[in-house]
Amino acid sequence: MTEAENLIKEICDSYQIFYAIERSTDDYLYVADLKTNTFVITENMVKDFALPGRITKNLSEIWGNRIHKEDRNAFFNSMEALVLGKSKTHDLEYRMMTANGEWCWVHCRGLLQSPKESENLIFIGVITALRNKGKVDYITGLFTRAECTRTLDYLFEKESDRGNGSLILLGLDNFTRINVLNNHTFGDSVLRNFAQDIQMLLPPEASIYHFDGDEFAIIVENCELEELDKIYARIYTYVNRHHMVDGLQYFCTASAGAARMMEDADNSFDLIKNAAYAMEYSKNNGKNQLTHFSNDLRHNKVKTLKLINLLQESALNHFKGFYLTYQPQVDVDTMNVIGAEALVRFTEPELGTIFPGEFIPLLETTGLILPVGRYIFEEAVKTCKEWIVYKPDFTMSINLSYLQLLDVNLNEFVVHILNKYQVNARHIVVELTESCIVQDMEHLKSEFSFLRSLGIEVAMDDFGTGYSSLGMLAQSPADIIKIDRIFTSKIDQNTFNHTFINMVVKLCHSVGLEVCIEGVEREEELNVMKEMGADTIQGYLISKPIEKELFYEKFIAKGVEGIVKYRNRT
Ligand code: C2E
Ligand code: CA
Ligand code: CA
Repeated sequence: MTEAENLIKEICDSYQIFYAIERSTDDYLYVADLKTNTFVITENMVKDFALPGRITKNLSEIWGNRIHKEDRNAFFNSMEALVLGKSKTHDLEYRMMTANGEWCWVHCRGLLQSPKESENLIFIGVITALRNKGKVDYITGLFTRAECTRTLDYLFEKESDRGNGSLILLGLDNFTRINVLNNHTFGDSVLRNFAQDIQMLLPPEASIYHFDGDEFAIIVENCELEELDKIYARIYTYVNRHHMVDGLQYFCTASAGAARMMEDADNSFDLIKNAAYAMEYSKNNGKNQLTHFSNDLRHNKVKTLKLINLLQESALNHFKGFYLTYQPQVDVDTMNVIGAEALVRFTEPELGTIFPGEFIPLLETTGLILPVGRYIFEEAVKTCKEWIVYKPDFTMSINLSYLQLLDVNLNEFVVHILNKYQVNARHIVVELTESCIVQDMEHLKSEFSFLRSLGIEVAMDDFGTGYSSLGMLAQSPADIIKIDRIFTSKIDQNTFNHTFINMVVKLCHSVGLEVCIEGVEREEELNVMKEMGADTIQGYLISKPIEKELFYEKFIAKGVEGIVKYRNRT
């Protein structure tokens, strides 16, 4: 025995040492006689794991049976090795069921005292709950991303021959809105609430982790595909209702992506990446849904990344590949072309012509919409300048993305371009989608009044697809309402669409708003619009969007006759 050991023995007894350590740590301590299988444990261990008492017989069986079934064998093997004298140490990490019914990773280290010195098999050790060691996220109380990866690594190692576990990534939809509308403390409470409630909805084989910000991950061990759908269905039902936190009501849905071990990825890095692709797909396609990873999804993602690169290169290369097409806008009474909507395209040798539905969202997420938007605006104004020579009342409608409106330099830029080309602002209409106008009406008011003070008209695009009520038309900040084409098709056969458009036309006219009907494809639809008294129409019936030279040839140089001839040809 060393001098220090002797001295300790002299000045205090072992109970005093045990007592002092118990009072000074969050860890759990145990002292056991393995011959009689009698354990003495600390009070916190009794409480946190709902154990029978400080002195418990057969604790290793009770304890062992509450260990996660994946980790249980390793525990019993180690205990057996101690009892049989094959090993003197015990050093394991495993998942343990807590008194709250949650899984908690613990690290258990113990040492068998030399049996020669004693008749008994004295085993003393410490159990550390890993949640207390930075493995758990402070906001939600859940395990962190690092722990999720660690568990996946472990499962991949273990299940490489079976591999039927899965990962679901969950992202709260529009969570920034919750943070911005209230504050970050409220946002944290929402995350905590979500984490706790979802945890209760999960089956025992699933565990949830807090990833980054508003993202969560659920690992489901040994499950079939349908099980994932069932888990998401429960989450879906939960999120699609109002919740209360700190006395405030909120509503927040969740988009999800799932990827399966082995089938979709053979390591944790790829599994997380693929589940993230699937979640991104859910988010970009209407949110509030689950998408299963597939190889098509990966190909599309690769294509998207490639497209982003090309768009970035083009923006640095004088917008090479971007060009505008123009779709005529026709006065319903006279059938004269009175204006055009500028619609952007992107073309590239490898990918061919790409439509704005595909690349505008990418320009928006990358911030490229600002420079590209300026290019589009300038090109459209330039064209307008050329055409008003022939048609003095011609108007050019230009689509603006919401992000462009938030650009503090927009006003200055618009004035600069109108001056540069000497185009009167009355020839310009800016189109903004209904959802963008309605969601941020207050904020956009000053922007609108500036544009209108110049003489530019504002059109509310895609009316009927957003959230506005018909009542709001009376206070609409727009001059023109463009009814979305989903209401136009089969108008002559569909009573709802017929009534809807009829009502919107009447309401708009009663408050002096002009109505443009989009997507008129058939003569029958045009006739209905005429009867209803719509002001202008746009649609394939007159023409698809076409390039500048062709538009000039068909609709500018030839005037009204040109339209009639063109329509007869198609
Ligand atoms: P939008 O502003 O509602 O434009 C009308 C879309 O409907 C155009 O699609 C047009 O080609 C299509 N369309 C017109 N008439 C008909 C018809 O009779 N039948 C059918 N089926 N479709 C018709 P496009 O050009 O693919 O543009 C899609 C959307 O992309 C536009 O919807 C607009 O929101 C956006 N976009 C287009 N150009 C620009 C732009 O320069 N800037 C911004 N920010 N967005 C743009
Ligand atoms: Ca438009
Ligand atoms: Ca539209």
